[in-house]
Amino acid sequence: MYSVIIMKTIDLVVPCYNEEEGLEHFVLETNKVIASLPSCRFRFILVNDGSRDKTFLVMKQLARRFDNIKYISFSRNFGKEAAMYAGLRHTTADYVVVMDADLQHPPEVFPQMLEAMEEGFDCCATKRDEREGESFFRGIFSKLFFRLSNRLTDVKNPYGAMDYRMMTRQMVDAILELSEVQRFSKGIFSWVGFDTKWISFSTVDRQHGKTSWKFSSLFKYAIDGITCFSVAPLRFTAVMGAVIFFISLIYILITLIQTLFFGITTPGYVTTLCAVLFLGGITEMSIGILGEYIGRIYMEAKDRPIYITKFSNFEEDNTKESEE
Ligand code: UDP
Ligand code: MG
Repeated sequence: MYSVIIMKTIDLVVPCYNEEEGLEHFVLETNKVIASLPSCRFRFILVNDGSRDKTFLVMKQLARRFDNIKYISFSRNFGKEAAMYAGLRHTTADYVVVMDADLQHPPEVFPQMLEAMEEGFDCCATKRDEREGESFFRGIFSKLFFRLSNRLTDVKNPYGAMDYRMMTRQMVDAILELSEVQRFSKGIFSWVGFDTKWISFSTVDRQHGKTSWKFSSLFKYAIDGITCFSVAPLRFTAVMGAVIFFISLIYILITLIQTLFFGITTPGYVTTLCAVLFLGGITEMSIGILGEYIGRIYMEAKDRPIYITKFSNFEEDNTKESEE
């Protein structure tokens, strides 16, 4: 009697933007973990998201050194979401992992993730325990965002949810069905459903390079997170309009009665000014919210590609290897 060992294949999707310093270290560290899991066959899918440094050069050198490294290089910086999508599009494995290249997503949790998949989960996702070095203001802001987006949208994520996760082929295929240009992965991962097990670890600081996130981009991220998955802000403006209309009806009635029975007493300068400013403000805000959605429709209607590949070592991409 002999038993057949079914090897699981696992694709690691890694978006890389200006990671020349840390990429090699990342691959070496991850390879150490891979070596401890002989029952799985791993493959790296490194996505160079238009880095301005030598990331792509490092990537090609690594691909020459290790035969389990595939790469895609964009024609410019399309953003992490686009890079993740491109990586996912090229996966073929049974399980797919999405992770950052800066080792803030430790490969050491692979065994834990695999265990969850063996238990029958479709996805094993990570959330952070605590965020060391996160400023007070930023902490409050992100907590508020999680509360708001969980309430307003179909997307339910625990506080501190990260992109770092392992998913089944079936779930990845479902994610790829959502081909919207304005991608918000945390929302998409949750929107497609499937059983997710959440594991947590305390975050570590970036070892090389620096984060490409600014507070302004976090703010944009929060707005995207809500508007991509909910029309609640639009409904809010409609409800607000109705409330204001109702209040003004009462006020008009009071003023009319006062004028008819007691005559015009005061010039009403302050009232007029307040009403004009208040309504002006509300109108501007409502137009802004409308504009936010129209802008989204506009961008989607163009139906532009999510990313453009310049180089790749995937055969089917039919792109030339670059000269050094
Ligand atoms: N990244 C990317 N394109 C970008 C910005 C970032 O592919 O435009 C990659 C980056 O190389 C890293 C991951 O996304 O692998 C997370 O970026 P970063 O570490 O800067 O973000 P943070 O960890 O602070 O959320
Ligand atoms: Mg990072």
